[in-house]
Amino acid sequence: MFKDRIYNFSAGPSMLPVEVLKKAQEEMLNYGGTGTSVMEMSHRSKAFDDIAKQTEADFREVMNIPDNYKVLFLQGGATLEFAAIPMNLLKTGVADYVRTGQFSTKCYKEALRFSDKIHLTASSDDKTYSYIPQQEQLDLTPGADYLHICYNNTVFGTKWNYIPETDGVPIVADMSSSILSEPVDVSKFGVIYAGVQKNIAPAGMAVVIVREDLLTGLEGKYPTYMDWKAQAEAGSMMNTPPCWCIYMCGLVLKWIKENGGLEARKAYNEKKAAILYDFLDNSKMFKSAVEPQYRSMMNVTFVTGDDALDKKFVAEAAEAGFVNLKGHRSVGGMRASIYNAMPMEGVEKLVAFMKKFEEENS
Ligand SMILES: *Cc1c(COP(=O)(O)O)cnc(C)c1O
Repeated sequence: MFKDRIYNFSAGPSMLPVEVLKKAQEEMLNYGGTGTSVMEMSHRSKAFDDIAKQTEADFREVMNIPDNYKVLFLQGGATLEFAAIPMNLLKTGVADYVRTGQFSTKCYKEALRFSDKIHLTASSDDKTYSYIPQQEQLDLTPGADYLHICYNNTVFGTKWNYIPETDGVPIVADMSSSILSEPVDVSKFGVIYAGVQKNIAPAGMAVVIVREDLLTGLEGKYPTYMDWKAQAEAGSMMNTPPCWCIYMCGLVLKWIKENGGLEARKAYNEKKAAILYDFLDNSKMFKSAVEPQYRSMMNVTFVTGDDALDKKFVAEAAEAGFVNLKGHRSVGGMRASIYNAMPMEGVEKLVAFMKKFEEENS
């Protein structure tokens, strides 16, 4: 039992800013004098329409999204987008995929259901996904329909340290675990998509940022809901949208704006991650398996090299209020996910706890 809020290092769903939760609490019973909560509101009402429009506008402002991109709010999370991507983008049937971890592999496998010409362009599985294949290692197909990459690898704790050159082939990037953590040049991508439960909002939807010329429609081949073009034309309201989730997204975007935007987030997140990596690089007990140039700022993975000690650490940390530090079930070890809403002091206190644990157990 905890009296105070814990430090939640979960990979997702994850922490939300306290200010945002308080605002939601304040507005819960009577949103803006409407006499109702956002959860009970018609998605066709003026009040909700304003929320949805403002959320999209803030997304565009915060991420500096060019006018020739649509922003879609869709259900089914990032996983359903793994299928939406080949449905919407395959024309010749050829697409390039890079495997850099668990989710990129899932996404690649999903694409195989739609074409037998899906091409594995590079994979870092030879070194347990501890690095990102560099440009010269990519076996790109000229004229492919798209190249798919997973920009930040949530399970293994790596991040792309460059944006590939593709000679005009649109890049589709899964940014589920890094979106809004720092500025990105949206114009370098054909599609950016993300499940919102890591760095934006509670679970329940994905955001898809797609360049307009890629919206060609599904021509009746697949379920209407999967059609990005139709979704764009309907303003993501082809059916009842996840209203509460869109509202929470809006509150988080406002919080980001009020706190200096993505440049400020980047500076804060870099500092936060450096505290942890510096400790890992100097510790005799805890180690990062990821080479420095590929390290994720959001998901920090580490091990002691001794499974029993890992287990003891995770258990004792949880008792002390640092929860969900167990690594993904497929890789073991530890993982501290330190998304936007994790305060600096959460990481400082975690490092102090790790130091103490190291002293007591060596
Ligand atoms: C969590 C995650 C997913 C899966 O997201 P869902 O919204 O649960 O489908 C996909 N890709 C990455 C990189 C993730 O971190």
